[in-house]
Amino acid sequence: MGGSKELIPNPQRGLTVATKRDHWSRLCILNILLYLMRAKRAEISTEDSNPLSLILNMPELTQSVVTLIDEFAKLPGIGRKSAERLTYHVLRMHRNEAMALAEAIRAVKENVRYCRKCYNLAEEEECTICRDLQRNQDLLCVVEQPRDLIALEQAGVYRGLYHVLLGRIAPLDGIGPEQLTLDALVARVRQGGFKEVILATNPTVEGDGTALHISNLLGDLPVRLTRLARGITPGSVIEFANKEILADAITGRQDF
Ligand code: ZN
Repeated sequence: MGGSKELIPNPQRGLTVATKRDHWSRLCILNILLYLMRAKRAEISTEDSNPLSLILNMPELTQSVVTLIDEFAKLPGIGRKSAERLTYHVLRMHRNEAMALAEAIRAVKENVRYCRKCYNLAEEEECTICRDLQRNQDLLCVVEQPRDLIALEQAGVYRGLYHVLLGRIAPLDGIGPEQLTLDALVARVRQGGFKEVILATNPTVEGDGTALHISNLLGDLPVRLTRLARGITPGSVIEFANKEILADAITGRQDF
């Protein structure tokens, strides 16, 4: 009998449902208005506390800002968006902090040069490693870039000397042997005094090619030539090593 009840129009019930719906809608609208008001107030207070945000919200950027964005965008790994973020960060920095950054860039360009012996970065004629007579003068480690030298130094095991090539032979990039510091390397080794030259170029096709080229250049000299050991990374397992890594590991195996 409940079905017949539903068929009877009930104006009172309809009114109640409509009133509840209106009430709910009004509540929602009120909440939205309150939220918008609070958001607007927060925005205004942020702008008040930081006048730069007014500048940053300007659709037209000033020439200085555009220039800084352009300069940041030239850095490796920095896209346009990141360049903008860095510029805005500089604008928000305290004046002293920003000036310290500018001064650090200026000092690097004016004070840092290549060591005359090994082509590491130096602020004197010779770098701190070449001047350190406590280091093993029998060992010479050949690396591609100063950052490779820093990485090896941070490993804290090697205590010999270095020679930085300032690149690697890369025919596809138009970099030939004459653009590296190979003449200086050969002259250094020819002078004698080294018992071992470690070829620590990167384990890439170009790094291997460069090491091979150096081994040909130094082949006639009475010095032991070695290459950095390669193989399975500590903490990894053989199952997941690729075949190049496994080939290196087998070839470069050591006495147990
Ligand atoms: Zn040096």
